[in-house]
Amino acid sequence: MEAAGFAMKNPREEEKLQRLQCSVQNYNWGRLGEESQVARLFALNSGSRFEPGKPYAELWIGTHDSGPSFLVASHENGIVDGSEELTLKSWLSRNPNVLGDKVLKKWGCDLPFLFKVLSVSKALSIQAHPDKELAWTLHKLQPDVYKDGNHKPEMALAMTDFQALCGFITLKELKHVLHTVPEVVELVGTTGASLVLKVSDQDGQERIRAVLQEVFTKFMSESKEKVTEAVNRLKSRLHKESQVRQLTDKEKLVLQLERQYPADVGVIAAFFLNHVKLNPGEALYLGANEPHAYLYGECIECMATSDNVVRAGLTPKYIDVKTLCSMLTYKQGSPEILHGVPINPYVTRYIPPFDEFEVDCCILPQGETVTFPAVPGPSIFLVVTGKGLMSAGSLEGLVATEGNVLFAAANTKIRITSASKLHLYRTGVNSRFLQAS
Ligand SMILES: [Zn+2]
Repeated sequence: MEAAGFAMKNPREEEKLQRLQCSVQNYNWGRLGEESQVARLFALNSGSRFEPGKPYAELWIGTHDSGPSFLVASHENGIVDGSEELTLKSWLSRNPNVLGDKVLKKWGCDLPFLFKVLSVSKALSIQAHPDKELAWTLHKLQPDVYKDGNHKPEMALAMTDFQALCGFITLKELKHVLHTVPEVVELVGTTGASLVLKVSDQDGQERIRAVLQEVFTKFMSESKEKVTEAVNRLKSRLHKESQVRQLTDKEKLVLQLERQYPADVGVIAAFFLNHVKLNPGEALYLGANEPHAYLYGECIECMATSDNVVRAGLTPKYIDVKTLCSMLTYKQGSPEILHGVPINPYVTRYIPPFDEFEVDCCILPQGETVTFPAVPGPSIFLVVTGKGLMSAGSLEGLVATEGNVLFAAANTKIRITSASKLHLYRTGVNSRFLQAS
């Protein structure tokens, strides 16, 4: 048994759990080291320390080139310490069977999903992710800006209270905005405003979306000077009014965004979008071409393997208003919130309407055992807190403790027994996709 572990071509390779070392992104909106779940997990995962005072925004678990995961050397997987680092991606290309036939056939020799932890202290850019066709076109036309040709449906599962802007508000709500926020009228113009005020639900969804697109595009395309003036006017008006009345949640949010991104068009754009508040354990998913911006909190995020973002505000990064405004669906109303489906007493499953992924949240009291039945696709486990023993197939268990990330091959049953209360997440290919014939 011992000696067999050295051979990469060992048939049992597919039954072993592989420990992964993951990458971190220090984007400026991240929480600072000592307050950041990402920093804590990254330090535990890599056996290093985080730097206090430095932002730790995202932990990346997967095969994306911008933040690859590596196999941790062990005599079991035949990787020797000090030898060249082996990425999960190149290991998968040497061991394609661990992905399972169905996944190989659909996505080729790569992990279809990218699994992340996010620690958000201030708003991320207002963005949308193109569908496959547009992603490919943008990548062809501007490969230096749009480095990725894949689409990027995503899901955020709140670990703490979590806030986001997501999708357009309803027509009724938008009319209310036009009646109560003069700065929005200033930027859409009186013609734009009256277009919205005249259209009604009887005109049909297509007409409403066309009006919304026209007005939102006009709004987002206004000159920097006009936007700066409008934001400043809005700010002093709200400060004045806050002395005599309670500001609405949206108004308070807008002031907060202004402090984070002064004079940014995204500050006022927030009036067009739904302000979504998730409790821990609730999830939000975003299909292609839906505008959104994460605002605050910590979450598990899962997406198709891609980093394809079109930005249009709340950011110092490159913005592409024209592309963003032309790609959006202009669907209106609050997004669906997923509460997860319990699949056993310890595991809740979140299944978004995308083939690439699903997420399980597992909370296992001390001394209990949970089994994840074999599925025909790969899984990745992330231990957030606690300690336990994890075994794959019939192999002996290995210790899994907070910060550990483990890759499990397709068609492998996983058993976990907790030594202390365990909190972990599993990401795998969407079971609806795997079960469909
Ligand atoms: Zn996004």
